[in-house]
Amino acid sequence: MKPIYDGQTLLRRQVRSSGSAQAGFLQRKCGCGGHTPMGGPCGRCKSGGGNKSGGTAVAAAQGTVDDRFHSQRQLAENNSRMPAPAGRIELARQAVNFEEDPVHRPLIDNYRRATGQPADGVNEFGQRIGPTDAELKYSGILGRVGVAPRWLPPVINRHNAAEAYFNSTPLIDPPGGLTTQFLNEREIEDNFDVEAAIPRPAVQTRNERGRTYCWFDRGVSVTGRTTMDIFSAGPWNFQITGAQADTRFASASCTGRSGPTVIHVDGSPNDRALEEFIRLGELEHENDSERAFLNTIAAYARNVNNLVGDTVYTRVSGADPAGCAANLARLENRDLLTDFVLQLNAATDRRHAGGRHTSSITGLVVNRDCSTVTVTMDAGTL
Ligand SMILES: [Zn+2]
Ligand SMILES: [Zn+2]
Repeated sequence: MKPIYDGQTLLRRQVRSSGSAQAGFLQRKCGCGGHTPMGGPCGRCKSGGGNKSGGTAVAAAQGTVDDRFHSQRQLAENNSRMPAPAGRIELARQAVNFEEDPVHRPLIDNYRRATGQPADGVNEFGQRIGPTDAELKYSGILGRVGVAPRWLPPVINRHNAAEAYFNSTPLIDPPGGLTTQFLNEREIEDNFDVEAAIPRPAVQTRNERGRTYCWFDRGVSVTGRTTMDIFSAGPWNFQITGAQADTRFASASCTGRSGPTVIHVDGSPNDRALEEFIRLGELEHENDSERAFLNTIAAYARNVNNLVGDTVYTRVSGADPAGCAANLARLENRDLLTDFVLQLNAATDRRHAGGRHTSSITGLVVNRDCSTVTVTMDAGTL
């Protein structure tokens, strides 16, 4: 009889090219960074006196790294190959024991998580990736990157199958099951929702000796999750009024009924199998959603977080503001936001191929006085 399609949200909308880069404005970083209110240096840094020397360490390498608009991997490689002002940095490292720095240690750790850099800034081959602890402390970017992207556990809503059956007419849409995606707690129906859930941070620029430098003012924090709408454990009964039964069911025994009617859903081959079929089907969508998030949204967040602040590791340059903006946008790759939708749609199509997530109503029996309506719902096979 009627097929029940599960209601995995199909995210379909015209692909839109990513927005053009915004013109930035000049804002010089202040010493220790934005982790204090209003972005001023914290008392620890001010009293430590490392503010100026750290800034010099970063400034010493200015001009040694030019346009780095390949991939983030390339960026990291370039960073590791950069002729580092090693002596100066070593001095800074010796001057500060970071393990005993409760103010900056968690900020440095978060920076590395949020940018996808190795925990201690050194990769498996012993090569330095990105800024050192000392450089980070005085970079002005601690506290301005986002929190590392996180996929959260699903919110699970369990529904009475009989109530769900009654409230869906005809039964070709939900309520077989439904998985809905959220980014930053915003429900996602298409790529425009993704764009809105993850606003592009402001771009800042400055000019120096005829070149333009540009970077993001701050990073991106993003969480993702789904809501899974599935069935409760059976048995499933739902009481409606006689008038509702009269309207809903064509059977003559329901005509003019005054007493209540109970709708009963019978899972086939049994209730447990039906509940599991729906649950495991939606779990496939949940897993697909997490995978798409990690492939696209988390990658985007790390890209942006790697481009926060005016340092040799993070800023991009160009011949003019437009060229700089284009180079920044290439590393940022905001198209990843649309890719989230496209990857999810492709995964959903694969899951649904051959009607894998389709169950069906195979029986509907109204008893003699219309006091009970029994609906048989067949589980499919995954
Ligand atoms: Zn500080
Ligand atoms: Zn499905």
